[in-house]
Amino acid sequence: MEINEFQGQRITAGHAEYDTARAVWNGAIDRHPRLIARCSGTADVVAAVRFAREHDLEIAVRGGGHGVAGSAVCDDGIVIDLSAKRAVRVDPARRTAQVQGGALWGDVDQQTQAHGLATTGGIVGHTGVAGLTLGGGIGWLMRKHGLTIDNLLAAEMVTAEGSVVHASADEHPDLFWALRGGGGNFGVVTSFRFALHPVGPTVVAGPVFWAAEDAAEVLRFYRDFAADAPDELGNIVKLCTVPPLPVIPEDLHWRPAIAVGSCYAGGIEEGERAVEALRGFGSPLIDLIAPKPYVAHQCALDDTVPHGWHYYWKSTNLAGLSDDVISVIADHAYRANSPRTYAAMFHFEGAVARVPNDATAYAGRDAVPHNIIIHGAWLPEQADEIGAAETEWARGFLRALEPHRAESVYVNFLSADEGPGRIREAYGPGVYDRLVDIKTKYDPDNVFHHNQNIRPRSG
Ligand SMILES: Cc1cc2nc3c(=O)[nH]c(=O)nc-3n(C[C@H](O)[C@H](O)[C@H](O)COP(=O)(O)OP(=O)(O)OC[C@H]3O[C@@H](n4cnc5c(N)ncnc54)[C@H](O)[C@@H]3O)c2cc1C
Repeated sequence: MEINEFQGQRITAGHAEYDTARAVWNGAIDRHPRLIARCSGTADVVAAVRFAREHDLEIAVRGGGHGVAGSAVCDDGIVIDLSAKRAVRVDPARRTAQVQGGALWGDVDQQTQAHGLATTGGIVGHTGVAGLTLGGGIGWLMRKHGLTIDNLLAAEMVTAEGSVVHASADEHPDLFWALRGGGGNFGVVTSFRFALHPVGPTVVAGPVFWAAEDAAEVLRFYRDFAADAPDELGNIVKLCTVPPLPVIPEDLHWRPAIAVGSCYAGGIEEGERAVEALRGFGSPLIDLIAPKPYVAHQCALDDTVPHGWHYYWKSTNLAGLSDDVISVIADHAYRANSPRTYAAMFHFEGAVARVPNDATAYAGRDAVPHNIIIHGAWLPEQADEIGAAETEWARGFLRALEPHRAESVYVNFLSADEGPGRIREAYGPGVYDRLVDIKTKYDPDNVFHHNQNIRPRSG
């Protein structure tokens, strides 16, 4: 398959790299595209979009390939693959970073931290910038600096017609609004410009682990601790097994536990004070909070969620942490079948909630203090033995949360089997209808539908 004026790499079945190029983070996804068009620049993306339309090919767009739903790869069609475009250019004077559409968060953190700067990004270094940003972007820094999209200043995008447009507050403001939460529905984003903030480079960060038996008690303590936390303090809870990382004594490895991870985006002394009560609570198994480089904290979890394991997620936002919801969480979390599985909770509020709800296409900012992600994970060779049971466990966990959950969900945490109802739920009716209008304007034929799809009116 020859694409006119394409300078990147074309990978088809039989090519030595075909199997690695079609693999995504979630090893349960096994799709065979007809062509992977690994783009070397914006012009290649234009050529690939036009080629796909001329030949009526299904299009999948790949940023970091991290989406649990596996929408970065399709069967039989073309993958517009940006993975070779990972450059990050920092302007320290203006405190901005220009980031190419295939970059990973590890790339961004590395370059921005060289100047003592950062922006809100994902908590795992090998997550793609593009997909994460387009869905909203939550992470350690969000309570101080907002979501990733709250730091997005501009984007370059190739439309369904194969034209290049720029979106910002001044250019195509409707598109700029939609790109901040509406996912990959509007075109292929080739670069992003982000605002940066002074962070670290040393921050007080890390997890404290307690035994799983203490989970309900820790969660009740955490409810108040999180509610009173300063904006600088980002917190994430994990109900998991202790990961077998070199920094953790071997006798604790794989032991069921609850962890509260923190990262203080401010001074070391204030950071130490902010986590004092957390570290003093109960009888921790191990306390790994310490001053450390922000870049090290940002990739500390990378090995706990490697590429190639099989994953299945369920998620919901939570209106609060009542005693009842805490009981459900503490009860269900440890009924998983695989020691690689966990449930994690992100704490919002702070700067996230202060941005007006209609400012971006990310819905429900002020009504949602917590989010829970039910993260089933097992080894590929356990697919038959554990996969189905783990999937059922995740679904059952979400069903048990039904009476307690907020009617909203983070779009980037949706699996492939959720259906249009949950995509609507991610946005709520007002935001969803506005997204449909903008989709109808920029992609009336729904060329970009291999995603959490917002259908145009005519589609
Ligand atoms: C281990 C792990 C940790 C995570 N942690 C976080 C976290 O801390 N915070 C958070 O907010 N999310 C997190 N996520 C979710 C993450 O936001 C999504 O998985 C997101 O899709 C990752 O982006 P990607 O570019 O790697 O996606 P991909 O799988 O490459 O793409 C997913 C979809 O995004 C769209 N897309 C991707 N690239 C482009 C592009 N250049 N132009 C247009 N559309 C594009 C397409 O619709 C594509 O189908 C995490 C995911 C994983 C697996």
